[in-house]
Amino acid sequence: MSFKDIIGQRLAVDLIKRAIDEKRFAHAYLFIGPEGVGKSLLAKTFAKALNCDRDGMGPCGECVSCKKIEERNHPDVRWFTYKIGEKRSGANDGWIRPDSLEPNKKSPQISIDMIRFLQRAMSLKPYEGRTKVYVIDGADNMTEEAANCLLKTLEEPPKDTVLILLASNMSRLMQTIISRCHKITFYPLDEESVKSELTRRYGLDEKKALCVSRFAEGSLGKAIETIEEDALTKRDKVVDEFISPKRLGYEDIWLYDEPRDKVNGILSTLAVYFRDLLVFSLSRDAGLLVNLDKADEVARDSKRYSAERLEEIIEAIAATQERIKRNANIKIALASMRLNIT
Ligand SMILES: [Zn+2]
Repeated sequence: MSFKDIIGQRLAVDLIKRAIDEKRFAHAYLFIGPEGVGKSLLAKTFAKALNCDRDGMGPCGECVSCKKIEERNHPDVRWFTYKIGEKRSGANDGWIRPDSLEPNKKSPQISIDMIRFLQRAMSLKPYEGRTKVYVIDGADNMTEEAANCLLKTLEEPPKDTVLILLASNMSRLMQTIISRCHKITFYPLDEESVKSELTRRYGLDEKKALCVSRFAEGSLGKAIETIEEDALTKRDKVVDEFISPKRLGYEDIWLYDEPRDKVNGILSTLAVYFRDLLVFSLSRDAGLLVNLDKADEVARDSKRYSAERLEEIIEAIAATQERIKRNANIKIALASMRLNIT
């Protein structure tokens, strides 16, 4: 994996490549942009290039150092996150996090203790590599205390160290943090790039690849998740349950048994289906749909609702997701949603 394997993000890649070529790096970078568009991948490739055992342009991908970084196993390249037990495609869970610093499961955030831990590790000399690279994934989810503590590191950065903050929501970062980092913006990927990557990786046919890439809204990470978690099958089930005339009783709603953190994602696919009904009833153009693989069903179901009703339903689903986010009882929230969208 080298710079040329990163899809899209030419601007970000060029900035980092130039820094490598000219051997002039900032001590701290802020990679800002949506989830799943290549921020972690560029951070990893950057770390490899900074520590690659072979001379040349960019990382070789084959030396011991590159391999260790790839496996998240390099003592000088470490990853911090607030995300719990997150499954990431192509990466084992190499997050550095002592057990005692496990984030609070209900509102996971990067705590001041985690930043202190990072600072202690940063103050040591590199073990094996030339440059230590510390990545904070989800830097927009730091507590205020943690952010203030990190500020000290940004004001007096340790030698031979590059800190990379990954974030998707700039408004949740303190201005003083933003101003002390070299900011690099990442953009959603275009539909075509995501589509061809999906075809390459999973051998999907044209239609399915396009459908998944529309679901993912320019995020390759989200597209991969859609495939690996079989989200389209779950969409079919949820659409059947909430739209089909031969619906089951309340007790039988399949979604009740899904883990809480998955329910909203599945509800989003239902909302997208209803949005497609609206799009189709207004445009009669199946080419505009996200659910391209269900064009016939969309054409059929769109006749059952008025445009106003569809808007109400889409709002009702969003309101339910909001309630679930606020820890509402899932069963009650879903049952009342079903009453509202019938
Ligand atoms: Zn190498």
